[in-house]
Amino acid sequence: MDRIIVAKFGGSSLADSAQFKKVRTIIRENPNRKFIVVSAPGKRYRGDHKITDLLYMCHQLSSHGINFDEVFQLIRERYVGICKELELNTPIEEILEEVYENILRKATRDYCASRGEYINGILLADFLDIPFVDAAEVIRFKAKGDYDEEITEKLLSERLSKLDAAVIPGFYGADKDGNIFTFSRGGSDITGSLVANAANAGLYENWTDVPGFLMVDPNIVENPKPIREITYEELRGLSYMGAPVLHEEAIFPVKKKGIPIQIRNTNKVEDEGTLIVHSRLSKTKHGKITGIAGKKGFTVLSIEKTFMTSEKGFLRKLVSVFESNDISIEHMPSSIDSISVIVAEEDIKGKLDKIIEEVRIFCKPDSITTYTNMALLAVVGSGMIRTKGISAKIFTALYESDINIRMISQGSSELSIIIGIENEDYEKSVAAIYNAFVDEV
Ligand code: ASP
Repeated sequence: MDRIIVAKFGGSSLADSAQFKKVRTIIRENPNRKFIVVSAPGKRYRGDHKITDLLYMCHQLSSHGINFDEVFQLIRERYVGICKELELNTPIEEILEEVYENILRKATRDYCASRGEYINGILLADFLDIPFVDAAEVIRFKAKGDYDEEITEKLLSERLSKLDAAVIPGFYGADKDGNIFTFSRGGSDITGSLVANAANAGLYENWTDVPGFLMVDPNIVENPKPIREITYEELRGLSYMGAPVLHEEAIFPVKKKGIPIQIRNTNKVEDEGTLIVHSRLSKTKHGKITGIAGKKGFTVLSIEKTFMTSEKGFLRKLVSVFESNDISIEHMPSSIDSISVIVAEEDIKGKLDKIIEEVRIFCKPDSITTYTNMALLAVVGSGMIRTKGISAKIFTALYESDINIRMISQGSSELSIIIGIENEDYEKSVAAIYNAFVDEV
């Protein structure tokens, strides 16, 4: 028997009635597409509003006692329009009225935001003529809003095992008392992954409006090559460094069972997209890289102290300064008698002087120097593992583009090489490395 496919459709894939029709054609074309996860309607054109953003706005206005009718009207028009154009009998006015009343009665921010997916799920279920399963009944959060993996897995798999097909709204769930909580923005990707895991799916399709992952940001390099196949680990490396497309946390639920994720384009079904797998189906090409991603805006604190490595507890004291100030450490490259702590500029803003003072008190270093305006880029690929010449090629490319390298870090897994450069050299560096490797991919 063919394995079940879980298909998640993003906001742009369900932004209006024409997109709903495309989605129905996709679903009906393969009877294995049984469980469908949906986002709220997204933008139809540049400058349009996402329903989730409008809902957040309604909540914001309502919580300050300001009239939100005008904003809610945009939400109303969008859903009523979809219903009319698809000739659905869904009691949309009643559903909208209930949401409106709840926002007026100061429902929580998460409740308000979740209604975009909730209503869209009901509409798509009607359009497909299959059952709707409210995520509040099957995706469980703990009382404080942390996601509860164990109970969700149990609730979801029990419910899905009784159904042949269903539409499940993404992005939210509820605690045992029914209070709604959402994942972070873009969290419908996580719901899709949870459903795929609970349904023991053979494939998790994530339908969006891009051709999948590209080797580099298309805003930096024109028409970069697509990535056809990528491992969970490689993807983790790229999305950690800011490559968008899929929510960072969406790989964890399916990773356990090794369920592949396929990124597909609703508007170009003939494209094969990107397949995210546990281990490569095709042979790893030695000497090749999979992709390059990065971010600007890091600050480096460079701490020097003679014999630091033999001082027991030095690192613990250093790290605890950052922990107690609620700052995540991105990287900590070290050398003899010195260590650098790299943090995001926006995290340390306003706290830098305090941190330096505390490091002085607790760690008693010989000196602390700070550098700002650093960008980090990660060159990622399992083809780099135990392969000679990769770093030579990267650093030659940077040298030939006249770029000064401020930091280098490579973990022992050899899956990625992370390089620190000046913010202003970021785009040039990414392009230089891409050009050095592109012909071999
Ligand atoms: N609608 C939510 C957002 O805009 C969640 C999602 O689309 O995945 O973030």
